[in-house]
Amino acid sequence: MARVDSALYHQKGGGLFRILGEMTAKTQEKYPGRPIVKLGVGDVTLPLAPAILEALHAAVDEQGVKASFHGYTGNVKKLVDGIVEKDYAQRGVTISPKEIYVTDGSSAEIYNITDIFASDSEVLVPDPAYPAYVDVNSMLGRKIHYVPCLEENGFIPQPPDYKVDIVYLCSPNNPTGATMTKDDLAKWVAYAKANGAVIVMDSAYESFVMDESLPKTIYEVEGARECAVEIRSFSKTAGFTGMRCSYIVIPTDVMIDADDGKKVSLRSMYVKKRGVRSCNPSYVVQMGAAGYYTEAGHAQCMENTRYYLNNGKVVRKVLQEAGVPCIGGDNSPYIWMKCPGGMGSWEFLEILLDRYGVVMTPGAGFGPSGEGFMRISCFGDADETKRGIEYVAALCKEIEGK
Ligand code: PLP
Repeated sequence: MARVDSALYHQKGGGLFRILGEMTAKTQEKYPGRPIVKLGVGDVTLPLAPAILEALHAAVDEQGVKASFHGYTGNVKKLVDGIVEKDYAQRGVTISPKEIYVTDGSSAEIYNITDIFASDSEVLVPDPAYPAYVDVNSMLGRKIHYVPCLEENGFIPQPPDYKVDIVYLCSPNNPTGATMTKDDLAKWVAYAKANGAVIVMDSAYESFVMDESLPKTIYEVEGARECAVEIRSFSKTAGFTGMRCSYIVIPTDVMIDADDGKKVSLRSMYVKKRGVRSCNPSYVVQMGAAGYYTEAGHAQCMENTRYYLNNGKVVRKVLQEAGVPCIGGDNSPYIWMKCPGGMGSWEFLEILLDRYGVVMTPGAGFGPSGEGFMRISCFGDADETKRGIEYVAALCKEIEGK
């Protein structure tokens, strides 16, 4: 009889957005006709930019002509050239096209890079964090260490005094909205090099970094080429959530240990696996993503980014005026607010939903250190976001007795 993998069978993750959906549905049943105000899910809501649409249409047309038809597609050169030039060279970082792999979404890539490492690898995950890092590694039966991101450390993960093999970092962070400085990243590069660890840098929200003094890529830190891979996604940057396009950078300098005592390049192992598990998006999708690197495409996508960041500005202002502690929203599309009156995240959500029909994501769903916090997403409609956050501020003031 075929048997299921035990780690997969016993894995518990993936419940957060399902539970949120169930709670929302129950509230709708209780108050039929009352609108739900969505400050929860972190998916973009603005449509694709015109320059991206144009690039997609042109690529579809190419596919209908024998001379320009592309069958199976690896990396599309136009896209990779855009990445090398605009995402790296313009930041003073040299990345070779052969170190870039275009993939069909960074969630898949978090899995693809993770299961290259030995099954008994120990991993380190900031707490709270995007749930995929924990889900993937618990599915693989690995030992997971958490580094708490709390008010005391500005919600920035700090290297521990023990060794691990793989470190996940995400900046700007989902869920806290905290953004790491070059010095913060340099500490982790030093840790990784001293301990022979590999950093998996998740930069899904890099395009939200507006402060020029903040790094846009971990490779702005010296030595990162020897110990870090970087995953980026077009999901938020170019509104590609449903289109599925991302990429991973694996520098040739990252080496890991093999069981015969030799050193092997991580990139060569990735290439070996990728030969079996193909995960390139289609030619059409990659050409659409290349549209982001045109002058018009970039400007249009940045306009959308600024729309979301403007929501962040409004949310922060309303919360700050109400005396609610919060961070993020300036260089990231998420705001991390403290629940009033020492309340737990789920308890606060229950009251908020019942009273005003506002949905936010409970911080506890992102890890134990998220308890007592809420994640507010700035990806919604501007008017709805303003209305929702005013309800939140009113409730916080009431609970605090202000
Ligand atoms: N990484 C982080 C931190 C995210 O928040 C998300 C999506 O919300 C992803 C990765 C997944 O992105 P993609 O749509 O490319 O799979």
